[in-house]
Amino acid sequence: MKHLEDHAQLAEAFNKDEARVDWHDKTLWFIREKRDKAAWQIPAWEQLRETASQIKNNVLANLHGYLLQFEKNAQQNGITVHWASTPQEHNDIVYSIIKKTGVTRLVKSKSMLTEECHLNEFLHLKGIDVIDTDLGERIVQLAGEPPSHIVLPCIHWKKEEIGDLFHKHMGTPEGNADPQFLTTAARENLRTYFMSSRVAITGVNFAVAETGEIVVCTNEGNADLGVQLADVHIACMGIEKIIPQRKHLGVFLRLLARSATGQPITTYSSHFKKPRTGQQMHIVLLDNGRSERLGNSDFRSALKCIRCAACFNTCPVYRRSGGHSYHTAVAGPIGSILAPGLDMKKNADLPFASTLCGSCNNVCPVKIDIHEQLYKWRQVLVKEGYVSGTKALALKGMAHMLSHPALYQVSGKFGRWMMKYIPFLINNRFNPWYKQREMPEAPEQSFNQWYSKNRKKK
Ligand code: SF4
Repeated sequence: MKHLEDHAQLAEAFNKDEARVDWHDKTLWFIREKRDKAAWQIPAWEQLRETASQIKNNVLANLHGYLLQFEKNAQQNGITVHWASTPQEHNDIVYSIIKKTGVTRLVKSKSMLTEECHLNEFLHLKGIDVIDTDLGERIVQLAGEPPSHIVLPCIHWKKEEIGDLFHKHMGTPEGNADPQFLTTAARENLRTYFMSSRVAITGVNFAVAETGEIVVCTNEGNADLGVQLADVHIACMGIEKIIPQRKHLGVFLRLLARSATGQPITTYSSHFKKPRTGQQMHIVLLDNGRSERLGNSDFRSALKCIRCAACFNTCPVYRRSGGHSYHTAVAGPIGSILAPGLDMKKNADLPFASTLCGSCNNVCPVKIDIHEQLYKWRQVLVKEGYVSGTKALALKGMAHMLSHPALYQVSGKFGRWMMKYIPFLINNRFNPWYKQREMPEAPEQSFNQWYSKNRKKK
């Protein structure tokens, strides 16, 4: 994929294929509708969201204590716990564990944290091949791309393209794009890797402080298969994945699958509490800016995210611009408030990739104030000088005009006149708004004039 820096340019590239944009949009909206139906089947849905939000608030307020409790219990269960403050440290730890085994190939089930750390690329340079075993992840891996969605990594791929990809890499018959056939082919192909891998890496959906166990949710059972057949299990997690007690899973598991895909529950919710006899189990906990975020009251609640992707599926910008336009491991609305915290300069465009419609807030199962944070990030980025000079100047001009009513009235009058008599001065290729829109006809009068005439008399 050609890497253009900014969201608008990457979205423009995605938008060139209108048919793809159309079904991408429709497919994700279909999932949003499934989520709505699944949520409405639970009368206490809003209460569940509120409970989840409160549990996560408690976790963030007491994270230090819960992490230590988790570490102690995990160690008592026979798990080795590692701490990493940066992606580099995380990768070094994972590599040091693998190195001792002497393997050059391993299996990995879906983990957005390892995407955040670019673990596959890191291990590849060390001579270790990582085989992603989640079907969607495997497809993007074969295509040499990052996932475009945290739950549906290859949602931007057509089945015919997947057929061609499998033909090239797995030798399936050319032109066969039957999803059932392709899934079976992938399963057979992956089985050989499962059978021969002595190391398995998984992500973590929830880490229970009370018991020191982790829970991994998959629909394909690939995490279980990998771990059960391996001698070494390495689980990689961000420090925010903690929940206090096992009983809280009853809240989060009900919310996660319904919010993600509209399913009542993920097919496999696998609990890993201790290594089996003869097996090693390691958990690597990564900070990577999370503690810093915790100290910032404006943005800390982003750490409550359970990565369900409901905010992706509902977002009108994500659905029409595609996941790769966000150029960060976690895309969509939540990615747009997480990424500037990691690198403000590189991700300064992302908080602007939103209409601020607030639909993300409405669906978020843990009630993160996503669109308010997008708006706050915009203010921070403008203040810190991370937006282009043209945008900063335009915003300054706009602020001046909007705070001077007389100037606003005159500009409006002039603008309406221009749009009527010399529209080409506004509707031209230098105006980014004009590029993808049919500009409306100028109204005869301003709202202010209409209001004076029609309402003031009453
Ligand atoms: S921000 Fe909320 S809706 Fe978006 S992925 Fe996280 S939990 Fe899901």
